[in-house]
Amino acid sequence: MNILVVNCGSSSLKYQLIDMETEKPLAKGLVERIGIEGSILTQKANGEKYIIEEPMDDHKKAIELVLKALVDGKHGVIKDMSEIASVGHRVVHGGEKYSKSVLIDEDVMKELEDCIKLAPLHNPPNLIGINACKELMPKTPMVAVFDTAFHQTLPDYAFTYALPYEMYSDLGVRKYGFHGTSHRFVSAEVAKMMGKDIKDLKIITCHLGNGASLCAINGGKAVDTTMGFTPLAGLVMGTRCGDIDPSILPFLMKELNMSADDINNVINKKSGVFGLSGVSSDFRDIENASKEGNKRAELALKVFDYKVITSIGAYVAALNGVDAIVFTAGLGENSATNREAICNGLSYLGIELDKEKNGMRGEAVEISKADSKVKVFTIPTNEELMIARDTEEIVNA
Ligand code: ADP
Repeated sequence: MNILVVNCGSSSLKYQLIDMETEKPLAKGLVERIGIEGSILTQKANGEKYIIEEPMDDHKKAIELVLKALVDGKHGVIKDMSEIASVGHRVVHGGEKYSKSVLIDEDVMKELEDCIKLAPLHNPPNLIGINACKELMPKTPMVAVFDTAFHQTLPDYAFTYALPYEMYSDLGVRKYGFHGTSHRFVSAEVAKMMGKDIKDLKIITCHLGNGASLCAINGGKAVDTTMGFTPLAGLVMGTRCGDIDPSILPFLMKELNMSADDINNVINKKSGVFGLSGVSSDFRDIENASKEGNKRAELALKVFDYKVITSIGAYVAALNGVDAIVFTAGLGENSATNREAICNGLSYLGIELDKEKNGMRGEAVEISKADSKVKVFTIPTNEELMIARDTEEIVNA
């Protein structure tokens, strides 16, 4: 059985066709510049690249071409669309309504429309993608998998902000958390690697990519996470500032005569390690600049690591202990120096890093020494596979 996983952004679309027998992708693709001049689809399958450059005015056209690429006589991987059993859609925000993935029907579509106000940038393209797929594959079952769902188990004292209570009850202002599919995937994987039931484990997962978040997981349930009402909160990120004193915002707006949109742009797109280093939002560039003696790049990395280290400390407190720490996503999976710097700040937990294993890349590996009190792992995340697994389970049920 093959499942198509679709992740729609405002002008881009990522997809994978996954064979559920092997849990491996038959094809992976990226469509860029949807609705902009120069639309391009790049598909990788059987070790080959297939590129379609054709105008794509909207997501429906993009998905039409995705299906065409998948069934293409020469470059495709299936004979016809009937070989796509179901479609799993990544949806960023499920609000308080969805604590699990869900089969998409008319009622769900209405609920998803309601969630737009919580994620005005991310949910609309997700919905456009679902609608486009429904038009082109009206008989194929579709499932929505939410970035927020895994965090719906947070206790009220962890998700509530100390604002007037009506701001939560009337407007839904609370911590939601994101990257849930990734945190759920790597926490399940680490339990398997440790040969333990996840119910018996206290785990801290560190999703460190361009966007970055931690999750504290007790017995398989998320009990806290660093992102908040939006994906801006918590850790320092590529271009996002993470937690700052909220009073800085009105101060800057007055001092620099900025609008709400201006300041929003600064804290989302011009801050983080990019704003600190003045070099790049890409950690590789910053690590290189730091090695060459760039002081601001060095500071950016220190600020980033310090926030991760102190946030892990907070989550050890939230969990009242920790059995395993997992690093994942672009930086977490690839940067041995960054993992080492973070683990050095956690020596009080009795963590002992195995430097040789920490140098390994691209595979799930325990990077702590055998007698380390807390186990540390690098596990490549696979949100697409998690989406496909959910889709298979829900459609089969
Ligand atoms: P997102 O999905 O949020 O865009 P990713 O999980 O793909 O992010 O992570 C992207 C980040 O990972 C980039 O900042 C990139 O620099 C960083 N990264 C990737 N490979 C390495 C590496 N070898 N060393 C350091 N950072 C890396």
